[in-house]
Amino acid sequence: MAYGGRGSASMGEVIGIDLGGTKIKAGIMDEQGNLLRKLDMRTPIELGRAGILAALEQLIQSLRNETGARIEAVGIGSAGQIDRCRGTVTFATELLPGWTGTNIKELLQQACGIPVFVENDAKTAALGERWLGAVRDLAHYMFLTLGTGIGGAMIHEGKLLTTPSGGAGNVGHMVLHAQGFSCNCGGRGCFEQYASGTALDASANRIDPRWDSRVLMEKLSVKDERAEHVILRFADDLSAGLVSLHNIYEPQVFVLGGGVMDSYPLWKPYLESSIRKRTRHPIIIVPASLGNDAGMIGAARLAFDEMAL
Ligand SMILES: [Zn+2]
Repeated sequence: MAYGGRGSASMGEVIGIDLGGTKIKAGIMDEQGNLLRKLDMRTPIELGRAGILAALEQLIQSLRNETGARIEAVGIGSAGQIDRCRGTVTFATELLPGWTGTNIKELLQQACGIPVFVENDAKTAALGERWLGAVRDLAHYMFLTLGTGIGGAMIHEGKLLTTPSGGAGNVGHMVLHAQGFSCNCGGRGCFEQYASGTALDASANRIDPRWDSRVLMEKLSVKDERAEHVILRFADDLSAGLVSLHNIYEPQVFVLGGGVMDSYPLWKPYLESSIRKRTRHPIIIVPASLGNDAGMIGAARLAFDEMAL
């Protein structure tokens, strides 16, 4: 089923969906940026591809039935690498079992009878931050989520930089240490093995089995030496990644989101000090401001943008 654009003059409401490994969030939004209704549910990963698709369909139908609103389209930000033209998952890790190869667009359009647009979740979050968040209307920036892994997106001249298989901005698997830790992508020494929330939890755990990143931050706030050592390493790895990306792409700013940013004020001085040692260029970091809703809001924006084409 194919849908053409209809022009932006009489755009009504769309559904934005953020599909992650633990939760699916869906909301109805209008083009002024109002979130009119929101629902979420646990991602039924144990049911595999069919179960996840059924959950998406159920959320879409619930929102349509509850509100009676005329929904024009659905935008989805999904974990994994996404072929945006086809709306297909090029690759997803075991965070979403069986998701690789799923043609989300085609299957949901058939099930729901309205246009569906799909993009990677970090990329929709980047669109959300540009629409209603930390970098409104900024033309050239890079967005990174420091969460379970590290997601990334590059905005160039106000638009997402995309490639046919959706790999552009896949910064979590940029190699930081050639002989480093193995990664779930099959590679070694990837950026997300050192600077994600999962990596920070693992580093804390190596100090003391009872520690995770939350305990680590509590210890850091009272200047515990072991905690400070872990944070120095983390800040050094994160700064190395950011400086490399800056040399490649020279964004006006880096927008950083994800759970690790909850403790940003605590480790910001360490990061800034490490960046200053690596480069003379000013590297500007802006914390994301939409929190966990960024992916869902940006997915709605994606739907509006695609419908207007
Ligand atoms: Zn990797």
